Amino acid sequence: MLLRGIAALLGPDLTYAPSVDIRTEGGMFAKIAPRLAPDAGERAIDGSGLLASPGFVNCHTHIGDSIAKDVAAGTGVDERVHPVYGVKSRVLGGTDPGQLAAFMAASCRSMLAGGTTTFADFREGGIQGVSLLRRACRGIPVRAVILGRTDAYQDEGQIRENQPPEAGGALGDLLEHCDGVGISGANEHSDAALAQYSKTSKLRAIHAAETDHSVQESLRMTGRGEVERALLARPHFLVHMTRATVPELEAASSISGVVACPRSNMVLGGRMPDLRGMVGAGCTVALGTDNVMVNSPDMFREMEFAWKGAGGGLAAPDVLRMATVNGGRVLGMNVGVIREGAAADYILLERHHVDLDIMHDPHAALVHRAGPGSIRAVAVGGRIVHGRA
Ligand SMILES: [Zn+2]
Repeated sequence: MLLRGIAALLGPDLTYAPSVDIRTEGGMFAKIAPRLAPDAGERAIDGSGLLASPGFVNCHTHIGDSIAKDVAAGTGVDERVHPVYGVKSRVLGGTDPGQLAAFMAASCRSMLAGGTTTFADFREGGIQGVSLLRRACRGIPVRAVILGRTDAYQDEGQIRENQPPEAGGALGDLLEHCDGVGISGANEHSDAALAQYSKTSKLRAIHAAETDHSVQESLRMTGRGEVERALLARPHFLVHMTRATVPELEAASSISGVVACPRSNMVLGGRMPDLRGMVGAGCTVALGTDNVMVNSPDMFREMEFAWKGAGGGLAAPDVLRMATVNGGRVLGMNVGVIREGAAADYILLERHHVDLDIMHDPHAALVHRAGPGSIRAVAVGGRIVHGRA
């Protein structure tokens, strides 16, 4: 397929090109040049009036709680989503799995319609939970990165005594079914359990420094910082880091990406993540929308909130990079960027949509004006999967 004469945000810097031709072939961006002649039989699309952006990469979701939208709104993080005693686990435990899957599928469709072409989900419930999410995603062409967990949490005594995790077989079995582990946090695991995760070969991610309480709990139980302990799992990325200190961010930057969830952090943790500080410390920062219970899985909303909440500390292209290019990097996937050889996941926006016309600044327009309503089409692997081109 050939997109002709289209405006596009190209490469890792999202460089604006006012008019370019983009060929997709075999699911990838095959050729990008000022003028390309269509091959025999190739479908050509007139790109005038359109802006091509990389598809969004939503690096942190819990779509398992899509049925619990706004349940216990106004209460704290532990009351809502603590893995052992939060209201979320009660609601989910008391609901028919088929119904849970139907609401998860709705969130997947919502993400595609909002330009999210890849998402990474922390999935509770062991192999069963992973299978349920796979079932929900069936037939929906969004790329789902499923990070499972064994739901084996250790108590304070076990952590203080540094007891080994339960038989390691459960983790190995789980990882045969998913793309990696999404660890609830260092405060539910001994050093030995965290070290066990570090030896697994798939993607590893962990919540860290989300709230004052979680940071203090780590110090109280172990005498060590939560981030220091989370890094024992050698995560590919740390989620939240809202309370991380500069030295902790610097320590994280050398081995991990950081996924920030600004809207969720304001609701559940009462503080904006210091996105500018994270970038300054050398972190690769990506964005996530976190629990559907708390937030819509809408990257447009997340970007606007991140940009304005940073109080002038970030430029619009920085924020857009967090929602696209950096997401691909953090997940180790060839997505989130329009360049030759990358997966052809993209969004076509109507430049003359009432909310966007006149588009003086394409990056700013995308970050804080565009929305699902200004999308003409979304493509995953070169195939239009939402809207029409
Ligand atoms: Zn989370």
